[in-house]
Amino acid sequence: MTTDARRRLPSVDAVVRAAGDSDVPRERLVRAARDILAEARAAGTSFDEGAAAEAARRRLRERDRRSLRRVLNATGVVLQTNLGRAPLAAVALAAIAEAAGAVSVEYDLDAGRRGERHGHASRLLAELAGAEDGVVANNNAAAVLLALAALASRKEVIVARGELVEIGGGFRIPDVLRRSGAKLVEVGTTNRTYVRDYAAAITERTGAILRVHASNFKLTGFVARPEDRSLGALAHERGVAFIHDLGSGTFIDTSRFGLAREETVPEAIAAGADVVTFSGDKLLGGPQAGLAVGRATAIAALRSHPLMRAMRPDKLTIAALVATLELYRDGRAESELPVWRMIAATPNALAKRARAIATRLASRGVDCDVIETLSTVGGGSLPEETQPSRAVALGPRHGRANEVAARLRTADPPIVARVVDDRAALDLRSVAAEDDEMLAQAVTAALAKE
Ligand SMILES: *Cc1c(COP(=O)(O)O)cnc(C)c1O
Repeated sequence: MTTDARRRLPSVDAVVRAAGDSDVPRERLVRAARDILAEARAAGTSFDEGAAAEAARRRLRERDRRSLRRVLNATGVVLQTNLGRAPLAAVALAAIAEAAGAVSVEYDLDAGRRGERHGHASRLLAELAGAEDGVVANNNAAAVLLALAALASRKEVIVARGELVEIGGGFRIPDVLRRSGAKLVEVGTTNRTYVRDYAAAITERTGAILRVHASNFKLTGFVARPEDRSLGALAHERGVAFIHDLGSGTFIDTSRFGLAREETVPEAIAAGADVVTFSGDKLLGGPQAGLAVGRATAIAALRSHPLMRAMRPDKLTIAALVATLELYRDGRAESELPVWRMIAATPNALAKRARAIATRLASRGVDCDVIETLSTVGGGSLPEETQPSRAVALGPRHGRANEVAARLRTADPPIVARVVDDRAALDLRSVAAEDDEMLAQAVTAALAKE
């Protein structure tokens, strides 16, 4: 490094002074100034203290920007796992706020002594599912692991080859099974499995039959799988547990919205499962949680398992979950849960919203028009099922699809769009109608930046 380059750079002190009084602690400013000067020295560039101070402040602003931010989900995927799956209902948000302080999470107000954390959602869950009892873990992966560990540890668990699935995020049924301490016994073939395959595999070492929802793929063509009812009957006749991982788990008939019919939680219980597990933040429309419902003895085994302590839900989750379940109890789930409102939106209603947004954007000089799309539910539910939707497609005057999409991600709040026919498009299926106004404003601001 030349002495010349050194001379052209101000001292750290001078830069900090130039930054003036600031709300940033002095040590952080010093560190940022040092970094900026070191980089300038290495690059052989020069800087006066004003410019260096500005660069240091900018560096801090960038570093301090939160990575976890509210976004507008315009992907057309209602349950986008990368975007946090189900948006919560207003009553669930209020319940979270209320539970944030001191709350009777493990306190029995009637008796005035320590109470049961798992009691809050149990009764409601059991009532809705038509089950004897229910328990909550922090996600469905945990609920499955717990069920296997509590009911089949050191025993064999029978799973059809066609159900040895990977859900995403590294959740693979064979691996989870092994981690639970159970031993996997595969039966059937990839495409066809019969009750007799399960029956032949049951021995005195068998702990459970596990059925897993395919979630993110579809087995079609020359396929066969036994009815739940037949598996339930076999399990009980032979004295082994029947665990059913439903994945999404719904209390509402999805076929009413032009989608394939998903087996509901009460149906899975009625078919004879000892434990049915499902997610809180998929079709249920609540917070991230893993719900297990079923026979009282089986649920008691999950609840008292040592792993439960490591997988228990926090008070905010319990609060949001109870508020969500109450909507189902009171027959208000479809009208108040964002997930079901999005799924229930008609193409006409979506078209009307799209036209209103497009008209508004066009009046602000944004190049756009309304297009027909196919949206999905996502979140590992209803694979390959689509619903007719509408989107506002942007460009081409604003650039290529990927450039426009990137610019939309810098909007405030950031917008995550989809790409349709090489254009960035805002699919309204996954946007709450209340957010249309915010969406239009954010798009205008982002595209007007050019
Ligand atoms: C989504 C899913 C899981 C994992 O649920 P999380 O709540 O994400 O942990 C497990 N099994 C099936 C079948 C699923 O669809």
